[in-house]
Amino acid sequence: MDKGWAEKNKEIQTLLAKESTFKEAIKKLTEFRGELFQQITWIVEGYPEEAFYQMPFAGAKGYHSKTLAYSIWHIFRIEDIVAHEMIAGDKQILFREGFLEKTVSPIITTGNELKGEEIAEFSKKLNVKKLYFYAKAVKEATDQILLQLQYKDLKKKFTNETKQKLIESKCVSEDENAFWLIDYWCGKDIKGLIQMPFSRHWIMHIEAMLRIKDRLCKLARKGADPVAICGLSCSHCFLGAWCGGCRTAYNTCSCAVYSEGRICPNVKCCNEKNLDGCYECNELETCEKGFYVPSNDGANAAKAQSFYIRKYGKKEFLKIQTRLHEKFEFQKVQEILGQDYKEALRILEEN
Ligand code: SF4
Ligand code: SF4
Repeated sequence: MDKGWAEKNKEIQTLLAKESTFKEAIKKLTEFRGELFQQITWIVEGYPEEAFYQMPFAGAKGYHSKTLAYSIWHIFRIEDIVAHEMIAGDKQILFREGFLEKTVSPIITTGNELKGEEIAEFSKKLNVKKLYFYAKAVKEATDQILLQLQYKDLKKKFTNETKQKLIESKCVSEDENAFWLIDYWCGKDIKGLIQMPFSRHWIMHIEAMLRIKDRLCKLARKGADPVAICGLSCSHCFLGAWCGGCRTAYNTCSCAVYSEGRICPNVKCCNEKNLDGCYECNELETCEKGFYVPSNDGANAAKAQSFYIRKYGKKEFLKIQTRLHEKFEFQKVQEILGQDYKEALRILEEN
């Protein structure tokens, strides 16, 4: 488990144990859930549709053997069922807010019963954007439930009636890989549920999602030109674990993610001009598009690098990048090259 996340989780569980620190525990838990949810947001905002039904670790033992879409569905179906059928005693968000239709999910269960290719097939059917909104709505509703809990509620146990209600809801499959969940949840008190479906379960599946997206980015990068269209080097970029590079569908550079159609303006422009990169363009010096907007800290460095590529070629450029990154860390290289592009070009030529 991620060390920082494990420590935060441990601290929350310790604070949860005492009445005097209970409110602080809930506050920290909702903040921590917000931090974890941000990872899901970045994944949903960053990757193409196909990323959500790939199984780059198919057959492996562990949560990373699933898909990104399945992981989101599974985390929030479990939370929705537990939070509303068991704790709040009201209607699940899936049904209350029409998310079954919106997500186009063929199932209402947690998905535990799905195996191998069935997981990919199920994931392909989901509307990922709507799935994200479902996850967000479930998270927010649960946060509200958590914030209203009192310390004395933590010891509340569940009766056979709750168990029956869960069975009748048909939200847990009767398959042996799923049905055990009902006994598992009903064997816990509210504190136990907070410790698993509302926190640890998230951590485990989000970590698995990070492994899946790392692998997908790595696969996307295979064989792709590591020289970015704007003149950066994808091989030396600090976003390496998150971005497949701007010549792939896994481009999570902010210029792409926040642009119309998720296409970086430099990539779009080069495609329209039929150029390999901005280094081939005669408007490079004065260009203020995409990565070159003057407000961007990295604009001068990227521009200087484009001029360097134009003069010395990509091979020499990647060599100089490796030399610079051996001497300085990524941020420092950007700082050194970030002042003035002509000065930055001189620095590149001297190294
Ligand atoms: S953020 Fe830009 S430079 Fe970094 S890997 Fe992605 S496309 Fe390449
Ligand atoms: S105009 Fe700007 S973005 Fe377009 S190819 Fe030229 S340098 Fe790149």
